[in-house]
Amino acid sequence: MNTKYIFVTGGVASSLGKGIIAASLAKLLQARGLRVTIQKFDPYLNIDPGTLNPYEHGECYVTDDGAETDLDLGHYERFLGVSTSKANNVTTGKIYNTVITKEREGAYLGKTVQIIPHITDEIKRRMLLLGKSGKFDIIITEIGGTVGDMESQPFVEAVRQLQWELPEEDCMTIHLTLVPFLSAAKELKTKPTQHSVQLLQQSGVHPDIIVCRTEHPLGADIRRKVAQFCNVKPGHVIQSMDENSIYKVPLRMQEEKLDELVAKHLHIENLPEPELSSWIEFINKLENPKKEVDIALVGKYVELQDAYKSILESFVHAGAANECKVHVHTISSEKLSEQNIAEKLGGMSGILVAPGFGVRGLEGKILAVKYAREQGIPFFGICLGMQMCVVEFARNVLGYSTAASSEEDPKTDFPVIDLMEDQKSTTIKGGTMRLGAYECKLEKGSLIHSIYGSEIISERHRHRYEFNSSYLPEFEKAGLVATGRNPQTGLVEVVELPSHPFFVGVQFHPEFKSTPEHPQPIFKAFVAAALKHKQ
Ligand code: GLN
Repeated sequence: MNTKYIFVTGGVASSLGKGIIAASLAKLLQARGLRVTIQKFDPYLNIDPGTLNPYEHGECYVTDDGAETDLDLGHYERFLGVSTSKANNVTTGKIYNTVITKEREGAYLGKTVQIIPHITDEIKRRMLLLGKSGKFDIIITEIGGTVGDMESQPFVEAVRQLQWELPEEDCMTIHLTLVPFLSAAKELKTKPTQHSVQLLQQSGVHPDIIVCRTEHPLGADIRRKVAQFCNVKPGHVIQSMDENSIYKVPLRMQEEKLDELVAKHLHIENLPEPELSSWIEFINKLENPKKEVDIALVGKYVELQDAYKSILESFVHAGAANECKVHVHTISSEKLSEQNIAEKLGGMSGILVAPGFGVRGLEGKILAVKYAREQGIPFFGICLGMQMCVVEFARNVLGYSTAASSEEDPKTDFPVIDLMEDQKSTTIKGGTMRLGAYECKLEKGSLIHSIYGSEIISERHRHRYEFNSSYLPEFEKAGLVATGRNPQTGLVEVVELPSHPFFVGVQFHPEFKSTPEHPQPIFKAFVAAALKHKQ
């Protein structure tokens, strides 16, 4: 079978959940035995979202191979359980960078370099790249932005050309729109969908299937109307109702026969029924929790839930694994003080101190660690959260009251967290952190070893600072021990406090590898510890 390409575009409004629809379709096709991957093409000019503030674009997701990517790649991995890579997230910035570099190298000597064909050719090359690896039967490409935006036009033009260049049965387009409900008229309205399909068609792209986001079921009449005015076959209008969990969307798409329509359109025959038993088991657990627990997520990007997307999803997975509803309370570290800490964190059964960058809110994170340590509340520190538990311990247990991370205070006398050696000469900001998956060797007999049940693990990183090992003997003597290290460099990656019921800090980001079918072990154990604490 040739590799098949499915393009997913969006219209009417942003934030309709193209990523979830793409991931749901991918899940269904994968459950029918196909090898599927999803890639995202983003219209902005940054090379990647690594330099963006989380308020701009939500969490920056990190892949095994060290790409800093759009958070939708997190959804792709959580739904498919398959790693993505640098090639799965392409931005306009990357495209132009490649073309301009080639121009300087003389690759187009004598020619005027233009959006068409040079930029669109580079877009097409990247759209087909993963398909050429031979590893996938289906490549789903999500086009970021909304149809009609000036900046996504070269992507739409590339899709138009590919529709024409690829065999008809190897390529299709799915368009996601919104069908709003006007409560005054008590009516669903199809006009915005008609307009957005018209816009797409003006660019020469004809959708084969239209998925309509809606708050109310679409009756046969509405479906017929959309089909008729948007030129798609009857039956090719799919409804996507709002769900209380994104993980139910694949099942809803299956009821709507989205995967069947796609398989038929792409001439893929004799596919088995989707094997979704472990997915359904997860949803059953999610829907029927037997217990509840309150966990604080202490961070500084609290106004935007997407800033901690993977952490929040990891709690959904870990909650289901414990048959427990986890109520995550995002707490602004900037607002924490000695006076209000007990009031803010006293009712919590677990405290997670979040990753982050910069000085803002650091002191509040340190207070939260102190409170968890002293009150015996399960504590989990991730990246900056781990670094702050080291600083807290240095200040309040070792007695180095001015100890700090050199990120907070470059002149501190006690840099217990310090810039990594290879970062000292780095001035360029983009893509220069310690990024991607590294192995970590866990100490036998430690809590972290019992959590993972293995000695060598692999987790993803995104940081510039590290535990300053010259202080390690003092920390260990006082009770905070290093129980995970990079086997090559010796860098401390895990610290824990054996005298505490559950106190773990990790330099890596375990949240990037949690999926519904394989909940991340530390999150699972942390929720279990929180439940125990509650009792
Ligand atoms: N700012 C810290 C560092 O660069 C922590 C980064 C993070 O939490 N991802 O090391």
